[in-house]
Amino acid sequence: MAGEQPEKTWKMRVSFDLDEVLFVSPLDHKTEKELPFPWRSIFRERVRLGTPRLIRALQEDGFEVWVYTTSFRSETYIRQLFRLYGVRFDGIVNGQRHAKEVQGRKSEPQPNKLPSRYGISLHVDDESIVAVYGKMYGFDVFELNAQDDDWADKIIERARSIRRKEKERES
Ligand SMILES: [Mg+2]
Repeated sequence: MAGEQPEKTWKMRVSFDLDEVLFVSPLDHKTEKELPFPWRSIFRERVRLGTPRLIRALQEDGFEVWVYTTSFRSETYIRQLFRLYGVRFDGIVNGQRHAKEVQGRKSEPQPNKLPSRYGISLHVDDESIVAVYGKMYGFDVFELNAQDDDWADKIIERARSIRRKEKERES
């Protein structure tokens, strides 16, 4: 149609914490199958059940999916581990990157995670302090700190609702 705007390629970003969120203990969480030998002796973390499906579903739905962890696992390690589950993240912020880019040389201590610095609109984390920072710095937080059979559906729903609001605000 004449005068119609071209479709924007804007993608909303969603990020996940690793420890206690995507990596969980099989003692009190449902987990994905252990990796086959020899991988499981290199990558010992156990992945929350439904992680690969959820991440692929979000990406197929037009979201970018990032990892935001304060741990110091290397980007290569994180990418290789998840590749074995068929998952490819769109971006990774680890402890090193956060220290360099968020804290940097600022003398004031910065929040332990600042997803908004990376254009991330929704972050999934087990720590409630991150939700407090979310209110202060303008990013949404989905708190996930236990086994939850419906976590994937809840996160997809929350991500879609934030995206609707952001699109409305844009237009
Ligand atoms: Mg955590």
